[in-house]
Amino acid sequence: MHQQDDATEQLTEAIVEYAVYRVRLDPPLDHSHTVAELTAAAGDTITPQGIGGIEALRVFRDILAPATISVDHTKFLSFVPAAPTEAAILFDLVVGASSIYAGSWMEGSGAVFAENQALRWLSDLAGLPEQAGGVFVSGGTNGNLSALIAARHQWRHSTAGRNDRVRGLVVASTGAHSSIASAARAMDADVIAVDADERGRLRGDALCAGIDALSDDDRARIFAIVATSGTTNAGVVDDLAGIGTIANELGVWFHVDGAYGAAAMCSPTQRPKFDGIERCDSFIVDPHKWLFAPFDCCALIYRNPAIARAAHTQHAEYLDALHVEHPGEIEWNPSDYAHHLTRRARGLPFWFSLATYGTDRYAESLDITMALTAAVVEMIHGAEHVELLVEPDLSIVLFRRIGWTSAEYQAWSERELLAGHAFVVPTSWAGETVLRFCFVNPLTTPDEVGDILDSMR
Ligand SMILES: *Cc1c(COP(=O)(O)O)cnc(C)c1O
Repeated sequence: MHQQDDATEQLTEAIVEYAVYRVRLDPPLDHSHTVAELTAAAGDTITPQGIGGIEALRVFRDILAPATISVDHTKFLSFVPAAPTEAAILFDLVVGASSIYAGSWMEGSGAVFAENQALRWLSDLAGLPEQAGGVFVSGGTNGNLSALIAARHQWRHSTAGRNDRVRGLVVASTGAHSSIASAARAMDADVIAVDADERGRLRGDALCAGIDALSDDDRARIFAIVATSGTTNAGVVDDLAGIGTIANELGVWFHVDGAYGAAAMCSPTQRPKFDGIERCDSFIVDPHKWLFAPFDCCALIYRNPAIARAAHTQHAEYLDALHVEHPGEIEWNPSDYAHHLTRRARGLPFWFSLATYGTDRYAESLDITMALTAAVVEMIHGAEHVELLVEPDLSIVLFRRIGWTSAEYQAWSERELLAGHAFVVPTSWAGETVLRFCFVNPLTTPDEVGDILDSMR
């Protein structure tokens, strides 16, 4: 595949030049286009002879890329944005160029070693013991599913076969992410959602009451209790200490979904909000959300990785060579710790960025986002047309534009996007259509957010 002709040289230059240009760009917000518009503009790009790399790059640059919203735009405040560092993005190109199979130690030891150092940093922040470990998966959805599969494996294993055909039960909260229900559906398990308090947090006493209200049979079916450290809608942190204590006392697997919020553990000023996470059997955090890594990257960490290995390792003739025992050392095969096999070394851009800038810069960046959030809360308190709904624990701000109908929220949101000003979509809170800012980008300024608030007058 390595043809060193002029055309290849020209294409190499064009691709690298475009990539570097895009990394440095103050990106336009852009917006989606219709299939009809894209068909008219791009035509058929897959042809027997090929359209050539330069032309394909032109189609991407001029037609396709503008039909994607730039998640790293400083005024992209919907869902959970991303704000990857320059080092992480550029190193992502290196990962792609290096043809690494990062599913096994045999093939990917150097990459896996570095990924494991990054996982170790997260595990230490959570206060898990030295033997804790895990793997980077594509996102929180896979992370939660894989952790719950390990939890159920452990529950069935520890009850000596009695529960092998019993449908399991996960206890979570009404504030839990949709991926918990999705995992339960995939696993053919049930979920009980205990009511969160008025701020959206699951509290230990509510959890106790919820479990007490179950029948004995249902209580025996519980294989995991899930807490959320940073709910996606309101950004509030569940009572991890209370929930963890209950789970530990019941001997039930305690999983913490920190996909968005657990990033804030790296700031010493924020770490106390996560007290109790050290009791968990597993947790996740998405570096592609608030830890400045590019998509797609979720860290999944187990207190006792041997359980995950027992639950997830695939066995097949052609894979046997990966499981040869080497005395004195277990070879860390990342494939064995989640529901996957082939994998990209997707933790490496995050590792490279951490190694480049140092963990202090991460703490500072988190604090900058927290200061921005506090400034925005002040602005909302000081304005007459908007009203804060939940005092934020982290960097998500839920607020109401007084007097607006759902249609008015929607129309404003679409107008702002099409004008290239900001991307803020409505959400709902207690059944009411409201607005939500999610801040993860340290480059977003209070003035920019002030402009957004002004546009709602
Ligand atoms: C975003 C999120 C998820 C899902 O993560 P993906 O990476 O989008 O799959 C799960 N849980 C929480 C709390 C989240 O915020």
